[in-house]
Amino acid sequence: MAMEVGFLGLGIMGKAMATNLLRKGFKVTVWNRTLSKCDELVEIGASVGETPAAVVKKCKYTIAMLSDPSAALSVVFDTDGVFEQIVSGKGYIDMSTVDVDTSSKISEAITSRGGHFLEAPVSGSKKPAEDGQLVILAAGEKALYEEAIPFFDVLGKKSFFLGQVGNGAKMKLVVNMIMGSMMNAFSEGLVLADRSGLDSKTLLDVLDLGAIANPMFKLKGPTMIQNNYSPAFPLKHQQKDMRLALALGDADAVSMPVAAAANEAFKKAKSMGLGDLDFSAVYETVKHLQRSS
Ligand code: NAP
Repeated sequence: MAMEVGFLGLGIMGKAMATNLLRKGFKVTVWNRTLSKCDELVEIGASVGETPAAVVKKCKYTIAMLSDPSAALSVVFDTDGVFEQIVSGKGYIDMSTVDVDTSSKISEAITSRGGHFLEAPVSGSKKPAEDGQLVILAAGEKALYEEAIPFFDVLGKKSFFLGQVGNGAKMKLVVNMIMGSMMNAFSEGLVLADRSGLDSKTLLDVLDLGAIANPMFKLKGPTMIQNNYSPAFPLKHQQKDMRLALALGDADAVSMPVAAAANEAFKKAKSMGLGDLDFSAVYETVKHLQRSS
C-alpha cells in the first residue's frame, strides 16, 4: 500500500516537493494557508486537509515547508494547528529554514505528546526541488530519520543526519550565510566590470573557467545581466537567513563583518520593494548605490 504523507506549505519549494511525492506514488494530503494553492496538487491526485490539524489527524507523517520562524510556529501552535492532533507515534518533519530556538520549541511540543520530530531544512533551490535533487540537512530523532528515508530519497540527492535538534538549522544557516555573502561579492564584481568598461558576459565566461566557478554564478549570472529576477529563492527569505545566521554568530561572539554587510544590502533591497523577487535582485541595490554616489 502507498505510504501516506501530509504536506503543509505549497510555496515555491513545497509545491515542487509535494508534486514529486505524488509522482512517485505516495498518497499526499496537502494544506496551504492560501487554500486555493492546493488546486494544482489536487489535479495530480492530492487530497486536501482543511487545516494543519486535519492533515496530521489523517497522516502518520507530516512534512512542513514554510517561509520563516513565525510561519513554522503558527502552523504548529495556532488554533487548528499541528499540535492539536499530535499523538503517540505521529511524525512531524519540518523542512523550513528556521533558527535553533524555533526548531527546539516545536520539537519539545511534539515530543511532549509522544510524537516524533525531525528538522530537515534543505540546500538547493526551485530547480533542485523540482528535480528531486535537494540536499537534506536532518537532525532530531534518528528513528524518524530512518523512517523518512523513502521521502528523502524522492526529494533529494543526498541526506545527512546531523545529530540533535538545532544542528540541521545551524548547518543550513551557515550555508546560506556564505551564499548571501557570495551573491553580494558577485554583484559588486558585475558592477565594477561594467563601470570599468568590461563586457559582463566575458566576465561570466572568465569566472566559469577558474577556481571560483560555481553553479550559482553560472545559473544566476546570465539572468542578472538581463535584469531578470523571477523568484527561485525569494530575497526576503535570504535576508531572513542572513539575520538568523548573524544571530547565531551573536551567541558565540563570532565576528562576521562580510555577512553583516551582505545583510545590510539585502535589507536595503527589501526596503526598495524587491523582497518577493529572486535574491539575485540584490544586484539592483548595488547598482543603485553606485548611481546615488
Ligand atoms: P515561499 O514560496 O514564499 O512559500 C512560503 C510558504 O509559507 C507558503 O506556502 C506560504 O503560504 C507559507 N506561509 C507563510 N507565512 C505563513 C503563515 N503565517 N502561516 C502559514 N503559512 C505561511 O517560500 P519557499 O521559497 O517555498 O521557501 C520555503 C522555505 O524553504 C523557507 O524557509 C525558505 O527559506 C526555505 N528554502 C527556500 C529555498 C528556495 O530556493 N526557494 C531553498 C532552500 C530553502 P501562502 O501561500 O498562504 O502565502
